Amino acid sequence: MEFCKLCHDRGVIISNDIAVPCSCGPQRALARRLKESGLPKFLYTCTFGNFDFSYYQKRESTEGINYFDTARRTYQAALDFVAEFKKNSNCDGLLISGPVGSGKTFLACCIANALLAEGLLVLFVIVPDLLDRLRAAYTPNSGSNLIEQDLLETARQVPLLILDDLGSHNYTEWVRNKLYSILNHRLNYCLPTIITTNINLEDLDEFLGERTTSRIYQMCRPYRLMVSVDIRVAQRKKNQK
Ligand SMILES: [Zn+2]
Repeated sequence: MEFCKLCHDRGVIISNDIAVPCSCGPQRALARRLKESGLPKFLYTCTFGNFDFSYYQKRESTEGINYFDTARRTYQAALDFVAEFKKNSNCDGLLISGPVGSGKTFLACCIANALLAEGLLVLFVIVPDLLDRLRAAYTPNSGSNLIEQDLLETARQVPLLILDDLGSHNYTEWVRNKLYSILNHRLNYCLPTIITTNINLEDLDEFLGERTTSRIYQMCRPYRLMVSVDIRVAQRKKNQK
């Protein structure tokens, strides 16, 4: 499909016999950055303006946590991160924990979309997908080793890496080493990482190992999102009405 009707995707238009850059340049560049970021298309619309605080109750939960305050703090931390990263791309990252359907991925995507729109480079990695790809690459003669090397190298070096859905998977020693090598490199070069996880922070080292967990704590400020209902389930019910 044609992206731009003015230049027919040539990127330049002829005006008085001179080739001039078409006005679609910035949008075209954004489209390319979005594609290369690995962010799934349905998450392009997650923006800070769309974050819905109504899912987070104002009253105290049974554990004495005010979910609304927790959400507000985490949202603010995400906003602050964007502002900080634009000034200094070697700032601290974020570790956003919370149960399934608490808006962690949404918030991570708000950050990704805000920075991609500013022309900055972000790699969005869905951890279960990465693990599948790593496992496939580990299988001899699978033919995908080169692609995985590229992905791992990009994950190591990209200015901002988002590791989404770091869950309670079965992490083999080999996968643990891969994750460690990514995070250790990023820590050494002060490259921030945003991690979302539904693992309780005290259980993190059980899954990832002590050395990776300690890297995460050194490079990410921890925040939490809590909900009493899974937002995705609540949204589906709302849409059915
Ligand atoms: Zn154009």
